[in-house]
Amino acid sequence: MKNIVYLDNSSTTKPCETAVKRINEALTLCWGNPSSLHLLGFEAEAKVKEVRQALAGALACRADEIYFNSCGTEGNNTALLGAAHAMHRRGNRIVTTAVEHPSVLETVKRLESEGFEAVYIKPDKFGRISEDAIANAIDEKTILVSIMLVNNESGAVMPVTAARRAIKEKASPALLHCDAVQAFGKIPVNVSELGADMLTLSAHKIHGPKGIGAIYIKKGIHINPLLTGGGQENGLRSGTESVPLIMGLGGALAEMPDPKTQLKAQKELLSYTCERLLGTGLVRINSGPDALPYILNISVPGYRSETLLHFLENQNIFVSSGSACSKGRGSYVLREMGLSREIIDSALRISFSRFNTKDDADALATALVSAAAHLRRVK
Ligand code: PLP
Repeated sequence: MKNIVYLDNSSTTKPCETAVKRINEALTLCWGNPSSLHLLGFEAEAKVKEVRQALAGALACRADEIYFNSCGTEGNNTALLGAAHAMHRRGNRIVTTAVEHPSVLETVKRLESEGFEAVYIKPDKFGRISEDAIANAIDEKTILVSIMLVNNESGAVMPVTAARRAIKEKASPALLHCDAVQAFGKIPVNVSELGADMLTLSAHKIHGPKGIGAIYIKKGIHINPLLTGGGQENGLRSGTESVPLIMGLGGALAEMPDPKTQLKAQKELLSYTCERLLGTGLVRINSGPDALPYILNISVPGYRSETLLHFLENQNIFVSSGSACSKGRGSYVLREMGLSREIIDSALRISFSRFNTKDDADALATALVSAAAHLRRVK
């Protein structure tokens, strides 16, 4: 594809060169089954081990605390179902937020239908969750707390460490799970500093391939496996490991810059983008001032998200509609933030990666002005 402006990196990212190279290497040279006892198996196993170690290094944990799986959705399902079922004798309360990804919210709903009680903490107008609200929600009957590190629509950064403090203060048996799918690679994610017992991530958000993710589970914590069978991944996730995708994840990790250094450059790009977009006189910014600078939620009042998305697409600019509509009701995250119908229906999510430049922001601002000139306003 030629000259595209890709600003939908929170949906997925383009696999980087090293990821593609390593996938190719796995498919052509290293296609053994890591469980096989012969040379081809050992070679594949060694590659898997290398990536496990690299990932453990990135999260500041032990290699045997990393379990590969198929995606962020699987990681969230594994953590929530596995922990709730393993902990049900100690209590039945689950604490989460109203703005988690559907792979958490739908799983918590499923647990509610099994008899667990769930508390969904509400965000403020910028999508932020307060430390007090987290502390108030956790009690001695709470067995599981699941809080994302960065919200995928608003970019709000959540105070996960406050949950760890509250668990301790309330002497709660709760396990703390963190969905770090949108945070990993963009801000430093150190599992012990966060105080997480379990943490989910996904390769396709960091310029790795789709279909591969990982979950961190703190040593000594036992949760029920989602998949049973041959006992791979230390019994937590049966199924032959996808060596090509694991190696692709390894390639993405190898190319991943230091998140802290990159964050500085990204803050500059974000403020330039905001300036350009606000300069059009068409845009309202929905993300908070302290949101992750890789995610910018905006609205263009008077124009429907989907219409704008397709207008931009025709100019080779790719963004996400903030209202991934379910039954025309618009984004539940923006609704929970208390935004009006008009703002929700005209929302767009702009999401960056390290490969975006000021030219992309210029192209977007110019295209939005052109959209306003060509599209009919909704009443
Ligand atoms: N959690 C968050 C916050 C996400 O943004 C996503 C995907 O967009 C997921 C989980 C699911 O990840 P995957 O697409 O790997 O299943």
